[in-house]
Amino acid sequence: MSFSQIHDVNARPQAADTVLACWDGSLLVRQNAGAVELPLWSGVEPCVASSLEGDPLHVGQLEGRACWLLSLAGEQAPEVQGFEWLPARSLMGMFDEAKANAAACALSLNWWRKRSRYCGACGSQTEVLDSERVARCPSCGQMYYPTASAAVIVAITRGETILLAHNKGFRAGVFSTLAGFVDAGESLEQTLVREVREEVGIEVEDIEYVASQSWPFPNSLMVGFRAKYKSGEICVDGKEIETADWFSRYHLPVLPVKGSMARVLVDNWLQRRL
Ligand SMILES: [Zn+2]
Repeated sequence: MSFSQIHDVNARPQAADTVLACWDGSLLVRQNAGAVELPLWSGVEPCVASSLEGDPLHVGQLEGRACWLLSLAGEQAPEVQGFEWLPARSLMGMFDEAKANAAACALSLNWWRKRSRYCGACGSQTEVLDSERVARCPSCGQMYYPTASAAVIVAITRGETILLAHNKGFRAGVFSTLAGFVDAGESLEQTLVREVREEVGIEVEDIEYVASQSWPFPNSLMVGFRAKYKSGEICVDGKEIETADWFSRYHLPVLPVKGSMARVLVDNWLQRRL
């Protein structure tokens, strides 16, 4: 079971191809015996044709079949018998790895397409090229590729404890690792040190890369690290972070959803000490 993002410019949708239909942050899926299934082209396309925004976009090969992004617009999500619309964010922890990768790619492309319609340099309407994934301005030639905003996320440990924080935007009781976007001119390590200092007032050392993940909400690349506590006392910024503390493995708060980079970092920490 795999997903490969090879963009086939000659591909045309076939009846048994897989569809990632996006409408207002939701994806069209079917829950079946604990698995989350995606619809096929033949079952979806006739039901959604009138809501289509732009041409179907070839996303890649999912489990041996081509898969397609259908970007949908309109006040209401079109009904497709046997399927339901679920928030894409909640699906990332329910999909298997291949589907999660395909969904991340489709959502990123959806976001890019919606936000590159006009040239930021001269204001003209852009056109998506057939030959590659790029929106080109016909007036000034500016190219708009799908891009991601890099964000650093870090699991900070102190002895047998881990630093977790509750952000104002989180659900009640949920604590996560610290994260922040890379600022202009910064390296990933500089972002990490700055964000930790700004959000909780401590210093860290022994920064190590762990893993990265596309997080298309709306278009982040999460770069995961671990680091060790060096000095200082927790003092939250009160703006983004409401409260933060050191937690032992035996008294953990509600953790972020499975499938997120934050959860990968916490699980990785838990497993390394088993
Ligand atoms: Zn232009």
